Amino acid sequence: MCGIVGYVGHREAYPVIVKGLKRLEYRGYDSAGIALMNKGLTVYKKKGKVSDLEGFIKEEQLKSHIGIGHTRWATHGEPNDVNAHPHFSASGKLAMIHNGIIENYSSVKQDLLNKGYQFKSETDSEVLINFVEDIKNKSQCSLEEAVRLALTQIVGAYAIVIMSEDEPNKLVAARKGSPLVIGVGKDEFFLASDATPIVEYTNEVVYLNDFEIAVIEDNKLDIRNTQDIPTTPYIQTLDMELESIEKGGYEHFMLKEIFEQPKSVSDSLRGRLNAAKGHLVLGGIREYANTLVNADRIIIVACGTSWHAGLVAEYIFEEYCRIPVEVEYASEFRYRNPIIREGDVVIAISQSGETADTLAALELAKSKGAIILGVVNTVGSSIARITDEGAYIHAGPEIGVASTKAFTGQVTVLTMIALRIAFRKGTLSKTKYHELLVELETIPGKIQKALELNDQIKYIASIYKDAKNCLYLGRGYNFPVALEGALKLKEISYIHAEGYPAAEMKHGPIALIDEEMPVVVIATHDSSYEKIVSNVQEVKARKGQVIAVVTEGDQLMPKMADHIIEVPATHEALMPLISVIPLQLLSYHIAVMRGCNVDQPRNLAKSVTVE
Ligand code: GLU
Repeated sequence: MCGIVGYVGHREAYPVIVKGLKRLEYRGYDSAGIALMNKGLTVYKKKGKVSDLEGFIKEEQLKSHIGIGHTRWATHGEPNDVNAHPHFSASGKLAMIHNGIIENYSSVKQDLLNKGYQFKSETDSEVLINFVEDIKNKSQCSLEEAVRLALTQIVGAYAIVIMSEDEPNKLVAARKGSPLVIGVGKDEFFLASDATPIVEYTNEVVYLNDFEIAVIEDNKLDIRNTQDIPTTPYIQTLDMELESIEKGGYEHFMLKEIFEQPKSVSDSLRGRLNAAKGHLVLGGIREYANTLVNADRIIIVACGTSWHAGLVAEYIFEEYCRIPVEVEYASEFRYRNPIIREGDVVIAISQSGETADTLAALELAKSKGAIILGVVNTVGSSIARITDEGAYIHAGPEIGVASTKAFTGQVTVLTMIALRIAFRKGTLSKTKYHELLVELETIPGKIQKALELNDQIKYIASIYKDAKNCLYLGRGYNFPVALEGALKLKEISYIHAEGYPAAEMKHGPIALIDEEMPVVVIATHDSSYEKIVSNVQEVKARKGQVIAVVTEGDQLMPKMADHIIEVPATHEALMPLISVIPLQLLSYHIAVMRGCNVDQPRNLAKSVTVE
């Protein structure tokens, strides 16, 4: 979390940095700050959003061709002006922005306190910049050498950029664990946590690797590792359209991203699926396709919404590939000494490809000899780079903090992998395989139809917007959808919501049901339909308010439920791609009606690069 931006070149730095920070606000919005070289090194920072910072700086203070900026998701110290980045060193000659956590900051801080250093903020970041300054003063070395020496003693995660008053045309940046992209323009350089602040100026980028330090000065980029060994920057061409990171007339990014799903799912399928020819080609898992076919077990590691996509995949892999699947919270998996055997395949799912826990879980699995695969959205991200193989979901940048199109993209890609492996393994007949491929190709159109329910869902939202609690129930393939629906509601509307397998209701949650309790039931026509009908009756017998997502033409549910949302029919294994759509819209409208900031919900941020 935290977004960082840097610029040096022929343009005014301030507008480039402010615009970049706005693009990165999905990563945190507790405070914003900027450092410029204007009559010396100056820092402006403020609690709140980037827009709060904007009004606060006077025009004449803004002139500078070099600068750094930060939008914070606080880990150490509450969100306030003092804890906001950039942080000055004690002398005021160095200023630094940081994304990550310095885990050994308290021992470093104690050493510095013993030497007489004083700290203004409670952050781990201020400790690091003073540590750099201390080494620089002691060793009388260059800034980059001091950074290098400091980082060899630092434990934790960081993407940092430092400016120095004594070297007013230089930026020094480094990363370990947190992302950092360098944009290479003509006579100018950009630094950012992801490519979105860079794309409108250049499409040539270098993804800095862990343990690399970049020095930008006199129009030159020098990269070396923490052993001081120079590396040749690998310049890649960005494949990102500017429109994809703008709201395009929608009120919120989240709504835009919900409505983009017919296209984003098509993009996930494009070039991979040709149902008429019976072709399904996944270039990203070619080499390890046999390993998957012969896998004794698949372990899926993920967090949040990606974990829900993993649960959907569990149903598909087990049903069609007949391979046992475990879906693990990455944070739990990595810390409990998991049993990983040869022949296990570990699949990581992450929108950003930077999720710290998922990355660490993968590293652990790799060290124990597992084959690791990735299903990620962000091209060039850390997970994409450390995995043996993998498939991008091609959903385009997801900016709303609550994930929507990444979920459907992940499910689409995992479904394709499962069907491909099942067919190759012989656990799925040719006829059934073709039937599923044909159906998969219809999904974007069916998502489009589900989106046409927007007005009806908005009306339902207006009835339940003041609810205090909400239950989501589903069975089979729709159980993970129930979890995802509940997560969407709580994260953006702050209504307490829980998802359950519908049959579990009797083992506890049923005690919560009364006439005040909305219960969203995903009851599409599948193999567990009859069972879920009984569950709905149990809810109605206790006067719960039932909002049922059903298959078009359902005759029974309208007689029982208070509200019916009819989605197009599809094969039950593919239904999560459609049944999740009304739940995304319901959460969105409820949150908007409650006056919540749906794109930047409180306390949350995207791209969780901290544990
Ligand atoms: N640890 C730093 C702070 O609290 C940076 C936080 C982050 O990157 O999320 O200010």
